Amino acid sequence: MEKLETGKRKKRNTRQKAVVYQVVLDSHDHPTAEKIYERAKKELPNISLGTVYRVLKDLAQEGRIKEIIVNKQSHFEGRTDFHHHFICKSCGRIEDVETPLCRYTCRKVEQKGYVVEDIEYKFYGLCSKCAHKKGILKE
Ligand SMILES: [Zn+2]
Ligand SMILES: [Zn+2]
Repeated sequence: MEKLETGKRKKRNTRQKAVVYQVVLDSHDHPTAEKIYERAKKELPNISLGTVYRVLKDLAQEGRIKEIIVNKQSHFEGRTDFHHHFICKSCGRIEDVETPLCRYTCRKVEQKGYVVEDIEYKFYGLCSKCAHKKGILKE
């Protein structure tokens, strides 16, 4: 097999990283690595799942994307600002949640002398679509 020169390989890595990053930025459904891989393949048919995993880890470490773990599975998103998630137990949808309650709770914790570096709330239940389907929520 032909060996790639370092420069060439570096260029390829940069391209892979850029494509994976763009896929995460364009996805608003908090996809798993597998889903990102499927989407990245449209742009780079030769990319491997292993590469996608590695690039995602790099990007998360650099703080350019965020990793959220739901049911022991990693999901990724391009939004890195302060927000939380609602997870639907029925369809598995992950939605962004904003609530000032979090900041209030954070201050309460800090008053006890802790230095809070990150907060992550996960709300579990039924999304409005599933709740309507089950007849729990009516208009
Ligand atoms: Zn749902
Ligand atoms: Zn999110």
